[in-house]
Amino acid sequence: QTAMASEKEAALAAVPSDSPTIFDKIINKKIPSNVVYEDDKVLAFRDIAPQAPTHILIIPKVKDGLTGISKAEERHSEILGHLLYTAKLVAKQEGLDDGFRLVINDGPKGCKYRLYCRYSSLVDLDIKILVVGQSVYHLHVHLLGGRQMNWPPG
Ligand code: 5GP
Repeated sequence: QTAMASEKEAALAAVPSDSPTIFDKIINKKIPSNVVYEDDKVLAFRDIAPQAPTHILIIPKVKDGLTGISKAEERHSEILGHLLYTAKLVAKQEGLDDGFRLVINDGPKGCKYRLYCRYSSLVDLDIKILVVGQSVYHLHVHLLGGRQMNWPPG
């Protein structure tokens, strides 16, 4: 995530890379997360900036080059299927019996959103962060539910 003055700069900064991401630290429990489901292959935890009453990320524990869905190879078929099956299990566990949405953002044009936060420790600061594109280059399935989803998603 990058705080930048213009969308153009932010888009240029959103360079996909295969280096470790914040999700590696979540997998290794080096930073805390709210885990809702885990097995030997996948981890599901609550998104830090929820866009719906239920917003969970489901990720493979081993990245194996899967920075995003556009990098999928045939060898990833099993883990890709397992991620979707896990999404179904977690949706059930969360009581999303009336419906839910799964989302995979990919690459610079896959997503754009604004985050606002207020920092008030020594000084009061309003911080606006514009995120252009997929923001974490470790494949993740978003599970969203608990409200009516709209179409088109925009
Ligand atoms: P993307 O735009 O790449 O599909 O979304 C990445 C998601 O990861 C965002 O919804 C963002 O809120 C979430 N995220 C980023 N950093 C963290 C973190 O440290 N912890 C948790 N739980 N979620 C995060």
